[in-house]
Amino acid sequence: MQIPDIIIAVDGYSSTGKSSFAKQIAKEFGFTYLDSGALYRGVTLFAMENGFIDDDCKIDVEALDAALKGLDLHFGPQGTYIGSRCIESRIRSLDVASKVSPIATVPQIRSFVDGKLREAGSRKRVVMDGRDIGTTVFPDAELKLFMTADPLVRAQRRAAEMASKGDVASLDEVLRNLQERDYIDSHRETSPLTQAPDAIVLDNSNMTPAQQMDWLKEIISDKFGC
Ligand code: C5P
Repeated sequence: MQIPDIIIAVDGYSSTGKSSFAKQIAKEFGFTYLDSGALYRGVTLFAMENGFIDDDCKIDVEALDAALKGLDLHFGPQGTYIGSRCIESRIRSLDVASKVSPIATVPQIRSFVDGKLREAGSRKRVVMDGRDIGTTVFPDAELKLFMTADPLVRAQRRAAEMASKGDVASLDEVLRNLQERDYIDSHRETSPLTQAPDAIVLDNSNMTPAQQMDWLKEIISDKFGC
């Protein structure tokens, strides 16, 4: 299936499989996949390692904002990097996950990440996943999906994914983390997680990846006549 040069925005709740689906879409249509959450996680790790956020998630916004100017955070061959250091596996840990949503409430950090995303999306043929891609980063994206799924199903999937990487966490702990992130993400002042009016909802609680792709192809063919 050949599709036009468009931007596909995939937003939704934590652990609904946004990144897996976005990667699958990129592979299917030869698009570039961009993981906006990885940039928020990268800023979080940077803040943790440099003392800009404490154990109670108190953030020194002024100092962090000043330091962002020298932060070389980017995507590379193995995922996300700070300079030449690959931080991909480090940013997926629960300690980073537990601090990322407070970090993502800070307007200065959001505008730092938005700038990187807009630059990366300027050439189109990208699929980007996040919380505010279809509402704030690319409000004119030609195709917007909003993903949701049952919280327990989401926690089970995330716990299994973590276990497969040798990262041990109880189902309770994972469920609590994702519910906390959903709450903070939906209630923050700047670019909260909301469904864009023109987004199409995908509840994948009972869907396989192949079923999701069939569902999407039907939508694309209806919308773009291909
Ligand atoms: O997608 P992922 O779970 O890796 O994102 C980590 C966190 O980054 C989210 O819980 C959310 O707080 C923040 N985020 C955001 N806006 C985005 C992407 C992620 O606020 N576009």
